[in-house]
Amino acid sequence: MAATLIDGKAFAAKVRGQVAEHVARLKEQNGITPGLAVVLVGEDPASQVYVRSKGKQTVEVGMNSYEHKLEADTSEADLLALIDQLNNDASVHGILVQLPLPKHLDEDLVINSIAPEKDVDGFHISNVGLLGTGQKSMVPCTPLGCLMMLRDHHGSLSGMDAVVIGRSNIVGKPMAQLLLGDSCTVTIAHSRTKDLPDVVRRADIVVAAVGRPEMVPGDWIKEGATVIDVGINRIERGGKNVLVGDVDFASAAERAGAITPVPGGVGPMTIACLLANTVTACCRANNLAEPEGLTA
Ligand code: NAD
Repeated sequence: MAATLIDGKAFAAKVRGQVAEHVARLKEQNGITPGLAVVLVGEDPASQVYVRSKGKQTVEVGMNSYEHKLEADTSEADLLALIDQLNNDASVHGILVQLPLPKHLDEDLVINSIAPEKDVDGFHISNVGLLGTGQKSMVPCTPLGCLMMLRDHHGSLSGMDAVVIGRSNIVGKPMAQLLLGDSCTVTIAHSRTKDLPDVVRRADIVVAAVGRPEMVPGDWIKEGATVIDVGINRIERGGKNVLVGDVDFASAAERAGAITPVPGGVGPMTIACLLANTVTACCRANNLAEPEGLTA
């Protein structure tokens, strides 16, 4: 393997350490404990695992964690009433509604009912607009984590050619906005893109967020490029269930200058950035200085 491994697990631990330090300072100097409320509707097993993990890590960095578990058949009115209550609760600085929601609930309506300044997932339409116009916003956690790793590896990203594969609202589009904000020349590729291999071959930075196991082979990667693999795909290999990314790691690592593994790359950064966003939201709510290096 020629490429440098970008260790998301170690980086996430460092981010959590910075968050914990800031939380300790807020408690000591300002008597404020940041609080994150997570709302889970229904019993989706993957969502339950994520929510448990978020709660545990929130407490570990010294913040308050409030978990609200609602029945799968909760009415939209009841869910909106809970969000309204959390919006008005001064001890709650961040609100996250775990997606996907059961089919009878309107996801856009629910997300847009969260107070934008408490929307630590960065999915509220106001935050999307603020990010798109280069203003201070809450930034979606997964792309924020990718940006932090890229900045850490390269310093400045200015002038680099970046290709983001995938145009989802939670990863692809905000990732492209962040790279643009850091003065990259950005291409967003998607399922209808023509000549995807040629598009990817131009890139100094490739961010793959597709959800197709190992679809990007090494020979699409420009020699020395940085590869950020967002994909999390569960496949069966050699009779075992394994996690793989959207990039064929072995062949890509032969050509890339740096690459994130799956697991242990982007994945751990997502919750670390959720904690970072919560402490940022708390500082903004109290007109206090924001932690450095933890926002876009
Ligand atoms: P999504 O399904 O919403 O979007 C996938 C995108 O890929 C679409 O925009 C589509 O146009 C594009 N696409 C599909 N087939 C393509 C093809 N053949 N060529 C080019 N583009 C193609 O997915 P998402 O929510 O953005 O997630 C993408 C992946 O990232 C998934 O594997 C998901 O599990 C993973 N993910 C990881 C984290 C994390 O914390 N690491 C967070 C969110 C998502």
